[in-house]
Amino acid sequence: MKGWILDLYPGLPGEMVVWLKLEDGATRRLVDRWSPSLFVASDSRADLARLGESVDVRNYGRFTRLVQKRERLTDREKSEVLEVCVLDATKTVELARRIERTSSFGGLRIYNCDVPPAQSYLYELDLFPMALCEVEEGREGLSWRLRDDAWALDYDLPPLRTMKLEITVSKSGVIAKPGDPLESIRLDDGQEVIDGGPEEEKILRLVERVREADPDILLTRDGDTFLFPYLLARAARGGVADVLVLGRDADVLRPPDRPGTSYFSYGKILFKPSSFKLYGRVHLDASSSFSYSESGMEGLIELSRVCRQPLHTSSRASIGKALSSLQFYHATKREILIPWKPVLAERFKSRADLLVADRGGFIFEPKSGVHEGVAELDYSSLYPNIMLKKNISAETVKCACCPDSTNRVPELGWNVCEKTGIVPAAIEIIVKKRLDYKKLKDGAEGELKKRYEGRQGVLKWLGVTTFGYLGFNNAKFGRIDAHIAVCAWDRKVLVHAMRIAERRGFNVIHGIVDSLWLKKRGADDEDYRELRLEIQSETGFEMSYEGIYKWIAFLNSRVNPALPVQNRYFGAFRDGRTKVRGIEARRHDTPHAFLMCQEDILALMKKADSVEEVRAKVPECVEVFERYAGMVNRREFQVEEMVFSRNISKEPRGYVNDTLESGVVRLLLEEGAALHQGQGISYVITDFYSRSKRVMPAESLEGKRCYDTKRYVELLGQACSTMLQPFDPQMTAERLLGDLRAKSHHQL
Ligand SMILES: [Zn+2]
Repeated sequence: MKGWILDLYPGLPGEMVVWLKLEDGATRRLVDRWSPSLFVASDSRADLARLGESVDVRNYGRFTRLVQKRERLTDREKSEVLEVCVLDATKTVELARRIERTSSFGGLRIYNCDVPPAQSYLYELDLFPMALCEVEEGREGLSWRLRDDAWALDYDLPPLRTMKLEITVSKSGVIAKPGDPLESIRLDDGQEVIDGGPEEEKILRLVERVREADPDILLTRDGDTFLFPYLLARAARGGVADVLVLGRDADVLRPPDRPGTSYFSYGKILFKPSSFKLYGRVHLDASSSFSYSESGMEGLIELSRVCRQPLHTSSRASIGKALSSLQFYHATKREILIPWKPVLAERFKSRADLLVADRGGFIFEPKSGVHEGVAELDYSSLYPNIMLKKNISAETVKCACCPDSTNRVPELGWNVCEKTGIVPAAIEIIVKKRLDYKKLKDGAEGELKKRYEGRQGVLKWLGVTTFGYLGFNNAKFGRIDAHIAVCAWDRKVLVHAMRIAERRGFNVIHGIVDSLWLKKRGADDEDYRELRLEIQSETGFEMSYEGIYKWIAFLNSRVNPALPVQNRYFGAFRDGRTKVRGIEARRHDTPHAFLMCQEDILALMKKADSVEEVRAKVPECVEVFERYAGMVNRREFQVEEMVFSRNISKEPRGYVNDTLESGVVRLLLEEGAALHQGQGISYVITDFYSRSKRVMPAESLEGKRCYDTKRYVELLGQACSTMLQPFDPQMTAERLLGDLRAKSHHQL
């Protein structure tokens, strides 16, 4: 039988269920005989032997044996550990806890127990999701032959059937609650609507329709946080919960075993709801899938294939989890055990080390403000390339085995291992495939271009995340020293590039992390391309040339130690393109009306060929501001265009200060909403300067234009001032608002 691996998960104890999508479009449910193993290490062989005979291990285990593995990432030699093959794949963590708790021996170290079983299965058999395979069913289980390659760029995929599911609720209050009745169910953007009749019947018709259409992917919005929990509650109320089957397996829809979790990412708390699984189908929740919303289905499939993580799992928010999976795969191949809790401790650092180390990535910004005729050169994926080429990994920096290594970290002099580390081993596919897709993308058009774009997009995020995880103490293979080593290399490479440019008579205007802005009187594209080649060959890292700006405005970078250095600038190239980074027009949390206003201002500015010409356009830009302010005052914007989005930064019940965020959270809690730290909320400012009712949750205001016009005009003034002030220091938000008030008085 030949087909693609669509979904896989543990079935009955001792079984792994794999759904295969066949070439003729049909699907097959296959069952393999397989169980995952956890590993236990101890300094005492006698303790391991006694553990192997213990009641717990005999109850949970399918078999035990002593095997040779590398216990730590830094171990050159293998050592003997106890393998416990756990019959029921869903019970590995449970057994690990029992071993830890009931163990009277002490000093037992437990490994691999929290690697998701479906992933262990893929690593062990060297398979990956959406891989084309041949498979035979035998008495001993399945035997696989891979007819695909995770490195392939143009791979065949089966056509997948998608069904989009939405519901409407008859709301009694501000937000929909499980107590409110179901109004209707919409399938595929309203191609089919299930309404009328008792509620139970609507739910049963949904079950029937899903079974008939048999989609591979069920697409929802808020399926994890609202749609499925709500459907489940209504089905239970109507007595039909026992027939609410939406997956391909005969299982009824069940709430997830674990509640969602809040986690820390780049200085922000994020919330990841537990996911509703539809066994045999992929449940894609567009609102909780970062990779899907950024890179579409093409990106998601690429992510799944490269990281060897089931589609359903990859579709959920954390790209860090996907990256970990790729690193676990490489660890498994090298027979390195995966610690249950991260262990690699920080080694002692001297004060001098700390001072040098804490400098972070490269920043050079002596000349904020506006410039003309500046060109931009960017290093492509510099951090991932540093990790790959300089072999930076948790276990390679200051390794014990190669004190005399010639590979040394700049400024700090730390030795780096001569053996390839696990992080560079895992990142190779990310860096190389991304480069290939970028090249393919440039030569492609239409759908094909979009496909390559989606795929290179997720690889880019994986690269960025690899760097983030390298310094993250909670990551299994993270260590701050490795993070520091990458930053030191970054500074060295950028300073080197600056020196080359200066030697060639270019002036360095601005630089940050992996980009340089340069200027030289009379220089044209050809001169910059030549310089690019020279820097590339001397520093050993690939660069791209972005073009020459007619004018560019640099705002001060916001430097927050918890966040990656963020560059803020906007400008217009000679060929008519514009580039905007770090200001409202690029952000997804700002009201759409502000974005449109800034874009209209940029459209005016981009016609200007010099700073002087932009200055001459400032009065016209002020008119844009006034036009938008007028539209706000006359409430011409829909409420949807006025929405702010935030992630809840505190425990929902732990707010003390009266902020807009706390106001929304309090309202939602009063309405009975289940909120978690890190969860996304959206709100509209309704009466900023009053004591109560300052904000409202966006979902409660559909169709009502009751926003606080005064406050929105003030904020709009700030957004416009961000763009105008670099060209005219007088154009503060206060000035814009004052002039506006004066004019409206005059008109009266
Ligand atoms: Zn070494």
